[in-house]
Amino acid sequence: MRTQVVIIGSGPSGLLLGQLLTDAGIDNVILERVTKDYVLGRVRAGVLEEGMVELLDRAGAGARMHAEGLPHDGISLAFDGQDHRIDLHALTGKRVMVYGQTEVTQDLMQKREASGAVSIYEAANVLPHAFDGEHPHVTYEKDGVTHRLDCDFIAGCDGFHGISRKSVPEAALQTFEKVYPFGWLGILADVPPVSHELIYANHPRGFALCSMRSPTRSRYYIQCSLDERPEDWSDERFFDELRARLPARHAEAMITGPSFEKSIAPLRSFVAEPMRFGRLFLVGDAAHIVPPTGAKGLNLAASDVHYLFEGLREFYLDRSSSGLDAYSHRALKRVWKAERFSWSMTMMLHRFPGTGGFEQRVQEAELDYLVHSNAASTALAENYVGLPY
Ligand SMILES: Cc1cc2nc3c(=O)[nH]c(=O)nc-3n(C[C@H](O)[C@H](O)[C@H](O)COP(=O)(O)OP(=O)(O)OC[C@H]3O[C@@H](n4cnc5c(N)ncnc54)[C@H](O)[C@@H]3O)c2cc1C
Repeated sequence: MRTQVVIIGSGPSGLLLGQLLTDAGIDNVILERVTKDYVLGRVRAGVLEEGMVELLDRAGAGARMHAEGLPHDGISLAFDGQDHRIDLHALTGKRVMVYGQTEVTQDLMQKREASGAVSIYEAANVLPHAFDGEHPHVTYEKDGVTHRLDCDFIAGCDGFHGISRKSVPEAALQTFEKVYPFGWLGILADVPPVSHELIYANHPRGFALCSMRSPTRSRYYIQCSLDERPEDWSDERFFDELRARLPARHAEAMITGPSFEKSIAPLRSFVAEPMRFGRLFLVGDAAHIVPPTGAKGLNLAASDVHYLFEGLREFYLDRSSSGLDAYSHRALKRVWKAERFSWSMTMMLHRFPGTGGFEQRVQEAELDYLVHSNAASTALAENYVGLPY
């Protein structure tokens, strides 16, 4: 079988790239290791920058997001028992959209099915080959039979643990990593959010985030030690700890209820450079990871897709390879800015084990400066709503 672009991975990057290519008349096949239901069962990101909203619209997959998503004009930083609102819209003229990654994935899958493009789920042992030459191909197994897909390009959209980055010779890759000494214990519960905007709380007991998926579904997180296990946290214990880290008015107003998802995510910053090897391109989490504090993981995947799609479109429709040649450089410039922002939010909002009094006072001074300086608030807001592509 032959196609123009093989996309490895049916997460948000693979699906978004696939849809933009299909709409531009560029043939593509998606190979996904697990089942469709498994992909849809993963609960992850939920804050979309305007750039991502525009890309979903461009892919014709934005209708439900506009109907059901929640546009947010601000966020709250809570410390010292007080809320400090950052008015994103007043400071930048932009807003963010709260809409779950699961919904984004579902909308893109439905669009792909409607457009008749091919996705092969439960494709085992997917392997990219010969991408350092003119004629790459990908092999995979389906129902015990090995298949070969010849193509012009391979898009590695297969996440941090995928095969694409691992297929690149080690000497060709430079990696940068920072692992944080804590995780986030997160729950999903069908209770109304404690506030209509997200609350990022820095408290002596640790960081907390009050987020949501809808007016009736809350997503709450607390910073925890990496030794913790979700099963040791009853819902009651979780909510007690969350309330203890919030200003009193939120703690008192919080409505609690049974959670239906509870998990611990480690926090990590990671970048692999470059993002192109011959005819193999790394996209999204396959190339970089950010701690979720800045809500950037999914949005970075979207900006990579934008740059790669433009490069592929130029290659096929304008017969120019300049966009593909610039892909890694353009994507990495934006990736590093998001890495910096996510790192700085993580450093500013969490309590680090073993931090001395000096560092603690500096963190408090930074928060105080941030909420009282228009310039500093604007810088945060500009990064939070997303830097231009
Ligand atoms: C637990 C968790 C919580 C997160 N929370 C947030 C958050 O709150 N905010 C935020 O902005 N971001 C968050 N993120 C990050 C965000 O979800 C990712 O940045 C986003 O999913 C990246 O999309 P992607 O398509 O690049 O990768 P993925 O979503 O990882 O998709 C990759 C796909 O490739 C498939 N695959 C993997 N290996 C192979 C293979 N060998 N062959 C074929 N297919 C393969 C996988 O099954 C998967 O479907 C979170 C991530 C995790 C893991």
